[in-house]
Amino acid sequence: MHDDRTLVESRLKRVLDERIRPAVYPESVPLEIGVWTAPGEPVPVAEGLAAPRTPIAVGDAWGAPWGTSWITVTGTVPQAWAGRTVEALIDLGFDANMPGFQCEGLVYRPDGTPVKGLNPQNQWVRIAAPAVGGEQVLLHVEAASNPVILDYHPFLPTELGDKETAGDQPQYKLTRMDLAVFDETVWQLVIDLEVLGELMAELPVDGARRWDVLRAVERALDAVDLQDVNGTAAAARSELAGVLAAPAVPSAHRISAIGHAHIDSAWLWPLRETVRKVARTTANMTALLEDEPDFLYTMSQAQQFAWIKEHRPEVYARVQKAVAEGRFVPAGGMWVESDTNMPSSEAMARQFVHGKRFFLDEFGVENHEAWLPDTFGFTGGLPQIIRNAGSKWLLTQKISWSQINKFPHHTFLWEGIDGTRIFTHFPPVDTYNCSMKGSEIAHAARNFKDKGVARHSLAPTGWGDGGGGTTREMVAKAGRMKDLEGSATVRWEKPAEFFAKAEAEYPNPPVWVGELYLELHRATLTSQAKTKQGNRRSENLLREAELWCATASLRTGAAYPYEQLDRIWKTVLLHQFHDILPGSSIAWVHREAEATYAALAAELDSLIDGAQQALAGDASGGRELVFNSAPHPRSAVPAGGAAPAVLGSGACEVIERPEGGFLLRNGLLDVVVDADGLVASVVEVANGRETVAPGARANLLQLHPDFPNMWDAWDVDQFYRNTVTDLTAVDALTALSAPDQAAVRVARSFGSSTVVQTLTLRAGEQRLDIDTEVDWHETEKFLKAAFPLDVHTERYAAETQFGHLYRPTHTNTSWDAAKFEACNHRFVHLDEPGWGVALVTASTYGHDVTRAVRDTDGGTTTTVRFSLLRAPRFPDPKTDQGLHRFRHALVPGAAIGDAVREGYRIGLPERHVTGSAEQVAPLVQLDNDALVVSAVKLADDRSGDLIVRVYEAGGGRARGRLTTSYPLAGAVPCDLLERPWDGTRGEVAVEDGGVRLALRPFELVTLRLSAAG
Ligand SMILES: [Zn+2]
Repeated sequence: MHDDRTLVESRLKRVLDERIRPAVYPESVPLEIGVWTAPGEPVPVAEGLAAPRTPIAVGDAWGAPWGTSWITVTGTVPQAWAGRTVEALIDLGFDANMPGFQCEGLVYRPDGTPVKGLNPQNQWVRIAAPAVGGEQVLLHVEAASNPVILDYHPFLPTELGDKETAGDQPQYKLTRMDLAVFDETVWQLVIDLEVLGELMAELPVDGARRWDVLRAVERALDAVDLQDVNGTAAAARSELAGVLAAPAVPSAHRISAIGHAHIDSAWLWPLRETVRKVARTTANMTALLEDEPDFLYTMSQAQQFAWIKEHRPEVYARVQKAVAEGRFVPAGGMWVESDTNMPSSEAMARQFVHGKRFFLDEFGVENHEAWLPDTFGFTGGLPQIIRNAGSKWLLTQKISWSQINKFPHHTFLWEGIDGTRIFTHFPPVDTYNCSMKGSEIAHAARNFKDKGVARHSLAPTGWGDGGGGTTREMVAKAGRMKDLEGSATVRWEKPAEFFAKAEAEYPNPPVWVGELYLELHRATLTSQAKTKQGNRRSENLLREAELWCATASLRTGAAYPYEQLDRIWKTVLLHQFHDILPGSSIAWVHREAEATYAALAAELDSLIDGAQQALAGDASGGRELVFNSAPHPRSAVPAGGAAPAVLGSGACEVIERPEGGFLLRNGLLDVVVDADGLVASVVEVANGRETVAPGARANLLQLHPDFPNMWDAWDVDQFYRNTVTDLTAVDALTALSAPDQAAVRVARSFGSSTVVQTLTLRAGEQRLDIDTEVDWHETEKFLKAAFPLDVHTERYAAETQFGHLYRPTHTNTSWDAAKFEACNHRFVHLDEPGWGVALVTASTYGHDVTRAVRDTDGGTTTTVRFSLLRAPRFPDPKTDQGLHRFRHALVPGAAIGDAVREGYRIGLPERHVTGSAEQVAPLVQLDNDALVVSAVKLADDRSGDLIVRVYEAGGGRARGRLTTSYPLAGAVPCDLLERPWDGTRGEVAVEDGGVRLALRPFELVTLRLSAAG
């Protein structure tokens, strides 16, 4: 037979596009339109419904950036349409390719009940089926004119990302506002032809199935009368019934589809808009659940449920009903889909505490999967946190975005730094916005790396990012692929159903040890420095507030601020969302974040001050106490207690050098700051060990051009290193004298910016503090602070949640080389046997470590560089412009335990309070420094029990005893939600009024301590 395959395929495309799809709505009449534009921010629904309308017509422009227009459409169903299916078609000026990234609407009935959301892929509203002639139609649309930020030419700087700079030019034109007859038979024919056409394109050309489908499609096209598509669609469909009924082969890949809209809690829109995005999508999805009995939908992020509960209770009622029916499935058990690189140990834990508790309280649902499809990499600390939250599975697909290395598994056990293993799935469909295209389904089947031993994968299905969710077209396509020859099979299944099947079929999955590093978006560890600092400061202040409020409550009976802390935690957790903390949102989001963090800091400082004053007693007592919230003693003040400070001893001096620069001394370290203001030498006095590599100088600021190929705020591309400017020119170098410190100040200017650094040695401290103030006015540059160290090592440690992980200093493999920018929490540590050095940071997360072998002496220089600032121009054209302050420290001679201690110290300053008490004894004390307290708080159940979270921080085994300064009745190991838990693997035993602990490397244990009497 002659090969006419491409002829038939081209025919299918044209007839579908030009004849069959247009026939879905064969008749229409225009609706009358009125509009009211809200003067500023969105108004309550009742106000929008009641506002007076002015006429507007199709073709008219509407919608200033970020504005809200209330559009009313009215009409009458023609008598001739009686008995037919009638829909309203509302096209606000949509671009079909941008669901969630442009204007959107939520449709209301006159009584204020929401109907469904409108977006470019969902423009219809069902009016009646069957219709009654003469029926009046009246609908209101709350239309949001959110501007397009990410355009066809992506990543161009735009002022549209903040209402303060966006201007008032209308962004859209009303395009179609009609009542129309919906011909379901034609619509079904479209779906049939789409499914078969897309399937055909994926089938081997030399296989019989492809030709079976092709011939059936050809017969169907022959059966369509192009002048009467509506009259002949049924006949065409009957030609396709046979190929659609052919069952899948037994070895077909099995896809568990779940309706989904991965809605970014803020990104190219502000937080307030996400509230409405969630309302639109959930209104749509609850409506779709009612129409489609097989369909299931899942939504993550407890925050988003909480938003609709508060702001759109009528939508929330529909969600509650659908959850109760088991068809709207809360997923993930986190407060938001956070970044996981940067949140602290406690914050990462609280993401699960607040997320899971919300789902338990609201729905009685506890889910067991962590759901993080879009997060930019996963730390080695996360598996233990997931396990301690009572969960056991993880889903993400983001690692498929890695630039260099293809991850070897789709289903595997992921092992964290402590040895906890989590059953993990990467959907091979490689998207969290699956739309049931044949190409996606075929890609999932082909791409799945665990073929032969496993058969199931998951496909999150629906428009995400900016919302929208699943469409009726996707559901219809999934229905045809339930059991279809040549295709993977598709079933709507809940995440838990998928994981149970996947786990059961794959008893010995492969294991991946350590972090799941995303080889992309590495600059999210640095962009928007103020957002990152706000996060770190809030995490530290929350630690202090919980500790001192709990201490004050147990000691003085002061009320514990449960509600306030709960609210503040949730705000901090929200801002850890994977486009806020990473710095990849529009200017509006980061401007608001800075203000929010400032307000939280004031509130937390006030809580801390109040609790500490209550503990210190009346200020007229005149005694100065130092409160130490760190987990280690300092200045003779016990951890978690207060006492008069005993300052470090030892003379500090600054000696001017004849060749220029200064020698700083405190008896522990001799530090040479040369004439360029650079650190030429740091010698540990006790053993004469030099820290700085020969011939190199530390604290060298380096400036790189930084213009990535894509994703400006997210990415730094490896070629940035090809060009570098060392900032060695000095404007001023000044010695600063004070009795208990030796310091110099270095001022420099470069480009349009200035930097002032203060390098300080303090009495009794083996540490060089470096305070940096940058007035940053650069464009597309990357500022680093380099520390070339005389250390020979193949690996270094970087702190992560509840421990640290090791990364190579070399680039042996493509996997090593790809990690050219990585995350630290408070420290980076390097060592040779017997001697190590730590670099600690108060608020920066990005760093790189490289090695070089010196020609001069054959020694190895290992260079650690902290990433300070970037200046990308998309999506915020003024990212990071302005004044910034950073604090870092260099700690020579540091073992890993010293690195841990100094990391806590840099973020938890001593607080001095005048009172009448001689001291405040800590509530709990541990007798082993490797056992670190990460939180002391009162139990969330308000029982008055004390919750103490302890982890082994050194990476070894640690035994120790926890004692309380009050009579202890019992200690119960708990999960993160403070429920009794037998999953603690270490030893916890109450004896002699204390708790004996024996923890494994990096093991975390949460204890509920009840007081006697
Ligand atoms: Zn996202």
